[in-house]
Amino acid sequence: MARREAPAAGPGSRALVVDVVRSATAISRVELAEVTGLTQPSISGIVRDLITDGVIHETGSADSVRGAPRKLLAINPANRFGIGFQLGPETVTCVAIDLTGGVVGREVVPLGDDLRHAGLEDVLRARFEDFTAGLDLPRDRIEGLAIVAPAARVPADRGVVLAERLGIPVLVENDGAAAALGEFWTRRVSRDQSFGSVYLSTGIGAGLVFSGALFRGASFDAGELGHLSIAYDGRPCPCGNRGCVERYASIAATVEAARAHPGLAARLRLDDPLFSAYDAVARAAVNGDPEAFALVDAAAGYLAVAVTSMVNLLDLGRLVLTGPGMAVAGSIYARRLRAHLSETAHARHRHEVTVELSAQPRDAAAIGAAALVVQASIAPGHTQSPSR
Ligand SMILES: [Zn+2]
Repeated sequence: MARREAPAAGPGSRALVVDVVRSATAISRVELAEVTGLTQPSISGIVRDLITDGVIHETGSADSVRGAPRKLLAINPANRFGIGFQLGPETVTCVAIDLTGGVVGREVVPLGDDLRHAGLEDVLRARFEDFTAGLDLPRDRIEGLAIVAPAARVPADRGVVLAERLGIPVLVENDGAAAALGEFWTRRVSRDQSFGSVYLSTGIGAGLVFSGALFRGASFDAGELGHLSIAYDGRPCPCGNRGCVERYASIAATVEAARAHPGLAARLRLDDPLFSAYDAVARAAVNGDPEAFALVDAAAGYLAVAVTSMVNLLDLGRLVLTGPGMAVAGSIYARRLRAHLSETAHARHRHEVTVELSAQPRDAAAIGAAALVVQASIAPGHTQSPSR
């Protein structure tokens, strides 16, 4: 491997060191210098500060080929915690994570009744107070709250209003991007990998993590995979374009197709709200109903075409499929996508593109939101959010 230029030490280096320690589980200072490309004196200084702050600790020794055994460094999980709220159409999913991305608290609460009596800020503030009061965590270790929702549902200035009322930092992020960061953390993905996530929900989002940081674009709008067109004269889309993959492969598109299918509409409960109706189709598909399978598999085929374009454009090496739409029938999407990538991905002769399924597809965005909070608290000013 080519030797990299040693980067200058700064807030980014601090985040880099924490990310590398987290993904390695336990690592020596010498290995840290090798992996990060930072100089030994820089590593010593950053590690000393992080130990003083309680972020990492020495955890034992590994044998060394020469000289004294090397002290190993690991993350101190209980040093700080982040809270993530994921706003769904009818519920809010609340999670708390520690510094390794481990979930230490979770609850899902209906939103509807509360919203009829109070504004969203007040409801979220009450939720935050309730949720954190029920956790057995020191309040001064809770570093903040991040709220995720489908892009544009929560304007960034609401984060500012909430931050003033709660007296803690509040970040706002779109669900696809947050989910990518959550998967990156909980999977201990190496920063060298070009990592992406596909978030299937009412819409279709993507999140991209390059060198350990979310790629956000010029206006925090990167990753609009759903509006990647797969047919220039295809179905019209509210965005103004035609043939957007969202019009063919979102859970709304699949439910619409199922409701229009006389056999399926008679067999399955499709009058329920969107997510329940979609889960009914997805369950029938994985349980061997041929018509339900054909619908989901067709959606997976459309999605595979769009995702392959994204993989080719960015030369991604590793992908995870996540979001509520992947919870039941994720294996159908994964199979389609793997087959399509292995036959058509431009870089297929140079490297494999790994496709994985999320372990917590319904919670991934909330976990990612909480990870965003913790990441921002470790290296203030390094991570940006639209609410800052
Ligand atoms: Zn569109």
